[in-house]
Amino acid sequence: MMSERGRFCAICGAMDEVLLENLCEICYKKEHPLEIELLKKLSIQICIDCGELRVLSTRIDPRAQEESLEELIREVVRSAVLSKFRSEDPYDVEFEDDIKNDKIMNYGVKEFKLRTKITLQPYEEFSPFEKNFITRLKMNRTICNDCSHYKSGYFEAILQVRADKRKLTDDELNRFENSINTMMKQYGDAKLSYILNMEVEPDGITAQVSTKLLASNLAREIQALTAGKLSLAYELKTTKRDGTEVYQNTYLVRLPEFSKGDVIEYEKDIWKLKAINDDQIRLESLTNHTERQIVRKRVENSAKKLNDFLFHREYMFVSAEGQTVVIMAMDNYENFDDNLERLPKNKEVGSTIKGFLLDDKNYYVE
Ligand SMILES: [Zn+2]
Ligand SMILES: [Zn+2]
Repeated sequence: MMSERGRFCAICGAMDEVLLENLCEICYKKEHPLEIELLKKLSIQICIDCGELRVLSTRIDPRAQEESLEELIREVVRSAVLSKFRSEDPYDVEFEDDIKNDKIMNYGVKEFKLRTKITLQPYEEFSPFEKNFITRLKMNRTICNDCSHYKSGYFEAILQVRADKRKLTDDELNRFENSINTMMKQYGDAKLSYILNMEVEPDGITAQVSTKLLASNLAREIQALTAGKLSLAYELKTTKRDGTEVYQNTYLVRLPEFSKGDVIEYEKDIWKLKAINDDQIRLESLTNHTERQIVRKRVENSAKKLNDFLFHREYMFVSAEGQTVVIMAMDNYENFDDNLERLPKNKEVGSTIKGFLLDDKNYYVE
């Protein structure tokens, strides 16, 4: 912009001054003050449990950040100050503060100070516009909502794992517990992601879970590991004063009665359960080792589990002549004849076979 020396200031009439938009420097600055709301005081809410910071409407979870609390506070108060400043023109800003990491959680320290210096030069022949002010950073050490939820034992949902007509096996309990722990590690310290209480017992797993979303994710994960069915039940917990009803959700994973490896009686034959999914079961006959795929419900409705009635044994395949084989029981060295088709496929003379005795009859499994 050209200077217009020799003319009058439109407001004060001063002559021989540098004019910008027909105004001398003093009048121009009066007409165009820096638009900033000077923050004299800023309240910093910091959770003494999790360190969550709240300044104006900004919430910061320090556990999700790499910087130190000192750096985080510095960042958030600086941007709070600048959020009150509007300028079309480029400006410089300098900050200075006395925030110290080791004083942040110190109850004796009630506040820090932040000095802000904003410089703006809209016209190079004027001296710069300057604003220089101090903001008192009031420290409020509190407990945030999420932490107070946790402390008060708040939870929205229950996760249950049960099995139909049986207890859970140690293997199942271990697998589910591990997978829950692994998932919880992935959530890390994410807000409101916690399990208040988890019981792992042969009757099943019961956990109080902070949120419905978390409980539903955990339930889905366990369901994916099994042929279990997932169901959801709502229970009215309380009615708030305004009439809103608060429900507690229970996410139940129900494991099938039968699982892989079970020995069952079905349609008068003895079978080993090879695989189970949502609606099918694959069985291997221990009479001739052929396999069948059957609708799960049919098996569940009429099969009987025999696991508890088996006397487990090891055998030696001694010799074969046509369809007749000689087998020796390894526990008492007794020899007896049997039929080749009753042995697992691909067994050769000399190999050992795992199996069991049931109602005085030997069965060869693998
Ligand atoms: Zn003037
Ligand atoms: Zn907290």
